[in-house]
Amino acid sequence: MTHDHERRGFDTQAVRGGQVRTGEQEQSEPLFLSSSFTFDSAAQAAARFGGDEPGNIYSRFTNPTVRTFEHRLASLEGGEACVATSSGMAAINAMCMALLRAGDHIVCSRGVFGTTTSLLTKILPKFGVETTFVSPTDYDGWQQAIRPETRLLFLETPSNPLTEVADIAWIAELAHAHDCVMVVDNCFCTPALQRPLELGADLVIHSATKYLDGQGRCVGGAVVGDARRVGEDIFGMLRTAGPTMSPFNAWVFTKGLETLRLRMRAHSENAQALADWLQHHPRVTRVNYPGLAAHPQHALASRQQLGYGGILSFEVAGEREAAWRVVDGTEMISITANLGDAKSTITHPASTTHGRISQEERDASGITEGLLRVSVGLEDVADIQADLERALDAI
Ligand SMILES: *Cc1c(COP(=O)(O)O)cnc(C)c1O
Repeated sequence: MTHDHERRGFDTQAVRGGQVRTGEQEQSEPLFLSSSFTFDSAAQAAARFGGDEPGNIYSRFTNPTVRTFEHRLASLEGGEACVATSSGMAAINAMCMALLRAGDHIVCSRGVFGTTTSLLTKILPKFGVETTFVSPTDYDGWQQAIRPETRLLFLETPSNPLTEVADIAWIAELAHAHDCVMVVDNCFCTPALQRPLELGADLVIHSATKYLDGQGRCVGGAVVGDARRVGEDIFGMLRTAGPTMSPFNAWVFTKGLETLRLRMRAHSENAQALADWLQHHPRVTRVNYPGLAAHPQHALASRQQLGYGGILSFEVAGEREAAWRVVDGTEMISITANLGDAKSTITHPASTTHGRISQEERDASGITEGLLRVSVGLEDVADIQADLERALDAI
């Protein structure tokens, strides 16, 4: 896949990347709700199916609206190719199915998205793929977990919900020394705040559901990386297995990318203000946010990221009962597991997003009963703070 105007700046590509105007000369990107495409002749149909002539055939594997999103996201991440998928989980699954075979082994950072843990521990073992989990910041642990059959290192940074920050460049170097593929789930930062491919990662995973949409409307995902692994191997898996992004969702995400950097900056500013305030609140025993000087990887985050993002978590004393009181004490903040929305959201990870992993896995990941995660939205920060203050008073 080639990308138009590759030397343009990030903001320009976010607004214009991947756009192909039709004869109607529309200003905004068109939405092609068409499951299939027609051919001029039997010979053209044969040439398209045989791969001798480029062009659309069927929307399970190519659709112009989806392609615009793929090209735009690829250029923002600095990748050669992008494959859009029906969800973030479909992106991770398609990547594993395309690149791994029975007998292969994955090393994955602890504290990844709860469903990613379930995929790696409950589904992939049925197909002979095993995973070892390591703390994202335990570099000896990463090294020791690698076996001769290890093929893939998977990292989420900052981690969910504890916001631990891992050194992408270091882990990428380790991966390459062992002939492994290094994959980063870049959902929390997005390319507006972190570009893993520039730091040495091979592939980037997205749940477009989160910040790429940014307004909580659609579910989707993507894999970005090189032309061979993404453009051929993962695209081939998508074409056959079919976890395809719908054109409508691709259109929503494409428009979302236009405001991505402005939104990420505003999310980060609001989250920083809330974290600064929360760390001095008497009911709060701990605040996890990479923008705090007290965060153990604050220096690394400052080097590796262009901002600290919109997700923070904090602990209250008094276990689940106190944490649930805070959730229930909010009036404005939405009680929902989604994140990366213009609307602030609050969740109790131990009983929701991380409720289905075992107690041992939760303990090892530091998901305590008093922990709450806030996805800080774009409301006035004074209003978010007032809502949390009222909620904390409810303990
Ligand atoms: C939500 C999420 C996913 C999964 O994405 P879906 O679109 O819900 O399938 C994967 N990784 C992270 C970090 C997420 O937050």
